[in-house]
Amino acid sequence: MVLRRVCVFCGSSTGLKAEFVNAAEALGTKLACRNIGLIYGGGSVGLMGVVSQSAHNQGGAVIGVIPEQLKPIEISGETRGEVIVTKDMHERKQHMSSLADAFIAMPGGFGTLEELFEMITWKQLGFHSKPVGILNVDGFYDTLLKFLDESVSLGFISKSARELLFVAESPDELLNKLSSFSSE
Ligand code: AMP
Repeated sequence: MVLRRVCVFCGSSTGLKAEFVNAAEALGTKLACRNIGLIYGGGSVGLMGVVSQSAHNQGGAVIGVIPEQLKPIEISGETRGEVIVTKDMHERKQHMSSLADAFIAMPGGFGTLEELFEMITWKQLGFHSKPVGILNVDGFYDTLLKFLDESVSLGFISKSARELLFVAESPDELLNKLSSFSSE
């Protein structure tokens, strides 16, 4: 299956290294160039703002999915492209997951980690069969990946569940991995 839309989870902050912003810009551009629509959290703050602006500027389709409570412009800023307003966070995640053919987590905080782990958990339980990947910018996720490997060794995560998570350092490499999984 060709990837039509990818959901990107990422920080509502930009982080403190230029690499994070550069990677968000590069991912937005790549999505637009590969004609893959972006589904994202609807804010113009942090890496969310960078990836959505870059996809939008390059002519890519962008859909922001934002809960009513976060919609005020002073919280989330201006949403790029099309906007879907949901009644709460649960409905938002449901929308984001059903609209997308694959999921990517960029660097971020609790919100990003929660979204990433929910998608991998749903996949592990067989609630969806879409690929989930991490864009490991500048080794940001190295310690988390090490923790996951240790959890496999200690018997809390199965080897097959651990292998559900794709990891790459560049947007192109990650999109290639997600596309080849989708077409299997
Ligand atoms: P965090 O990784 O903790 O910065 O949270 C990022 C995630 O939380 C994003 O993917 C959004 O889904 C959500 N989020 C956090 N803050 C906002 C905001 N101001 N506007 C929209 N979404 C937000």
